[in-house]
Amino acid sequence: MDLSFPYYLENYIDGNFIGPLSGKFLDVINPATAEVIAQIPDSDERDVDIAVHAAERAFPAWSQLAVEKKFSILNKIADLIDENLEVLANAETNNNGKPLWLSKRMDIPRASDNFRFYATAIMHFASASHSMGKKGINYTLKQPIGIVGCISPWNLPLYLFTWKIAPALAAGNCVIAKPSEVTPLTAFLLGKICHQAGLPNGVLNILQGSGNRTGENIVKHPKVKAISFTGSTRAGAHIASIAAPMFKKLSLELGGKNASIIFEDCNWQKMMEETIRSSFTNQGQICLCSSRILLHRNIYDQFKNEFLEKVKALKVGDPLEPESRQGAIVSKVHFEKVMQCIEIAKAEGGRILCGGHAIKVEGRCENGYFIEPTVIENLPASCKTNQEEIFGPVVTLQSFETEEEAIALANDSTYGLAAIVWTENISVGHRMAAALEAGIIWVNCWLLRDLRTPFGGMKNSGVGREGGWDALQFFTESKNVCIA
Ligand code: NAD
Repeated sequence: MDLSFPYYLENYIDGNFIGPLSGKFLDVINPATAEVIAQIPDSDERDVDIAVHAAERAFPAWSQLAVEKKFSILNKIADLIDENLEVLANAETNNNGKPLWLSKRMDIPRASDNFRFYATAIMHFASASHSMGKKGINYTLKQPIGIVGCISPWNLPLYLFTWKIAPALAAGNCVIAKPSEVTPLTAFLLGKICHQAGLPNGVLNILQGSGNRTGENIVKHPKVKAISFTGSTRAGAHIASIAAPMFKKLSLELGGKNASIIFEDCNWQKMMEETIRSSFTNQGQICLCSSRILLHRNIYDQFKNEFLEKVKALKVGDPLEPESRQGAIVSKVHFEKVMQCIEIAKAEGGRILCGGHAIKVEGRCENGYFIEPTVIENLPASCKTNQEEIFGPVVTLQSFETEEEAIALANDSTYGLAAIVWTENISVGHRMAAALEAGIIWVNCWLLRDLRTPFGGMKNSGVGREGGWDALQFFTESKNVCIA
């Protein structure tokens, strides 16, 4: 199939690729070169309305289609994603700045996994019945909601876009989906793939555009009955303020400030390798990345020396080069934000142990947005650097003496997305897992994912859980039927 993309990308509405009614477009930039590589529609309320009408027309047939048929179409989408791995991975890397090997190994395979997982999950989705003996019986109908909105961020573009769309479609909903305006390419290509896979027109509509125009008009539309959003806490709060008075169902996956808690007795080598990965994969732009490394006092110096040596060896460079461990920061705006965070850390008294500077990569990437992996110490838990999300290749080191102190430090955050614990003592692992205020706890691993598990955060990291049955519960209405 032809997965090339034109300079002017279009919306995918009712099975057609069409431009925005306003005629307004936004630049799409390759952050590794700073070049404009395409333009996307900045869709407004009229485009949203056309998409909603298409979804409305498609809903009766799609919601009633047998699960076996839904399975075949969603599974076909997964197969086509796999078949087009190279093209999709190149598009992701050229738009996001992440190393190509990472797009190939993580982002695109996970996108097909998401479709395959929910293609099969819907075949096994069952509902409860509650017997009242001779008086009667209740059973629960799990019905699709109708039209739902899925809005995703730029850090894992196709991975997170499909993580929402696949369960929404599997549950029988019609979807209005919007990728980030910063990384729209693979979402555009997904429209082509869905079309080729035989997804009926109007079942999935992909609208391109900015958050405050396109995104907000999706959230505001009275016929869009649920919103699944992943992005910043700031935008999540704003979306909630619009959606709550309209009584829309809301799933919010927001920011994080995750702690890695490292005890003396850990498996040192594994902890070291994984902590490098959890700190800097995707240039630190994963909501699950560790940003605060908490070390037992007795291993602080040993960890610092070895960690710094390994961080300094991470090659930052052209994302297309296989040796590059770190690619470009996603955009100029985000690059400036991360650089400003480093300046704030210095002003707060932070000691920059390594990194702290922008990097000029020679050749084709000389204008790109690259930052050295940065490690900072000597900052109190309460400072901005240790409290606010940076979402870049920047981590801080702090020390603790007791388990209680480690828990207090880790929980000293308005966020509660993930926490990582390194210990060979199973009892410590269990106690920490129970005490840490985060929706996802990894003990002796990081980003080890089973798609059946609940995924999401506490506190300012969000509301609701994605993954497994949770996503299918979210995208369905429960209706109790009581029969005497
Ligand atoms: P963002 O909030 O700026 O944008 C996310 C998406 O929401 C984009 O598609 C954007 O266009 C849209 N949007 C923005 N304002 C909107 C509005 N008013 N109404 C409707 N839509 C709107 O976030 P980002 O900068 O793209 O992504 C980075 C953030 O995402 C970080 O805070 C990160 O922690 C978070 N994130 C969270 C998870 C998670 O699972 N918890 C996963 C990945 C990223």
